[in-house]
Amino acid sequence: MQRLTLDPDSGLASYAAQQCVSRGRVHAEEPHPYRGEYQRDRDRIIHSAAFRRLVYKTQVFVNHEGDLYRTRLTHSLEVAQIARTAARTLGLNEQLTEAICLAHDLGHTPFGHAGQDSLNECMRDYGGFEHNLQSLRVVDELEDRYAGFPGLNLSYETREGVLKHCSRRNARTLGELGKRFLEGGQPGLEAQLANLADAIAYNNHDVDDGLRAGLLSVEELCEVTLFNEQYERVRREHPGIGERAVIHETVRGMINGIVTDLLDNSLLQLETAAPACIDEVRTQTGPLISFSEEFQSLHLELKRFLQTNLYRHKKVMEMTNRANGVVRGLFDVYMADPSIMPGEHASRAAQWQEDTGDAGAARAVADYVAGMTDRYALSAYRRLVDASLKF
Ligand code: MG
Repeated sequence: MQRLTLDPDSGLASYAAQQCVSRGRVHAEEPHPYRGEYQRDRDRIIHSAAFRRLVYKTQVFVNHEGDLYRTRLTHSLEVAQIARTAARTLGLNEQLTEAICLAHDLGHTPFGHAGQDSLNECMRDYGGFEHNLQSLRVVDELEDRYAGFPGLNLSYETREGVLKHCSRRNARTLGELGKRFLEGGQPGLEAQLANLADAIAYNNHDVDDGLRAGLLSVEELCEVTLFNEQYERVRREHPGIGERAVIHETVRGMINGIVTDLLDNSLLQLETAAPACIDEVRTQTGPLISFSEEFQSLHLELKRFLQTNLYRHKKVMEMTNRANGVVRGLFDVYMADPSIMPGEHASRAAQWQEDTGDAGAARAVADYVAGMTDRYALSAYRRLVDASLKF
């Protein structure tokens, strides 16, 4: 009996990321006997320590507030689920899409956006902190598990997708990968899709989590077109089902509606632009994966609603403020004496201090703090800064 090996590019559209035209890995590697290159990327991400840490990192609600809220891990899985479905329908590379989705938040700090804003503030004099760039640092440098190279040595297309945003200053240090942030241009379609799947996932799961937490009400949400339409439909079609099921069916209908619009509109755009290959996708002036104008504004309506009513809710802001204090406190205490960090982090800090002064040491501290889970950060803070912290 022979092993079944499939051509990794079979069934893909011409504009998809095809392995045969990949820009490859920084460190050349032998092909695997029965796994394609993007499949290997995805597998490496799943086996990374940073991926496992996502389970104890906040999406919106801190982990210990309840077992049913999304974490960064379940968020990443939902993003991947939405994007994989869409990738298959568009003839895109499903394995690359999944790899990008699973890796997109690897650089996120503890405590969600609060942690990242606070760390950026701490790093103001040392080059700043960007979570997208940090995700790239994790897969390029910080994961330390392979004999032949630092990081995960992922394919160019996966790294291109992970680096969703980047400041011009940092883009200049990234060679080919940073070019599109300086000269314009687009990433591959799989990256464009992962980006929107991220937005679809958080908009919709934050509605669900916000309702579960009692921070949002159905009455408030009915001011939002996408929610209201689906909520009314579910009530009409399924009179008598319980409130939990109504909400689930509503969110399900919202995701289905917006993904369908994304597919229809993207297919239309792909037909018109007709890019012959991924390099033609990269030279387009705008993304080809996008919502219709109508859904773009409905999507923004929901996003703005969540910003005002959930992310700036008093209870979430209280958590944000406490998180800022924890991240700032940890940064200061390690910056004052980097040698109290665990072995590899302390020796990096010493090395980088020698190479580039305080900015080097600060980078090692930021890498360490950014890698922490919520609960690890809290226990380090209680041990080193304030044992009486309530969170
Ligand atoms: Mg995300």
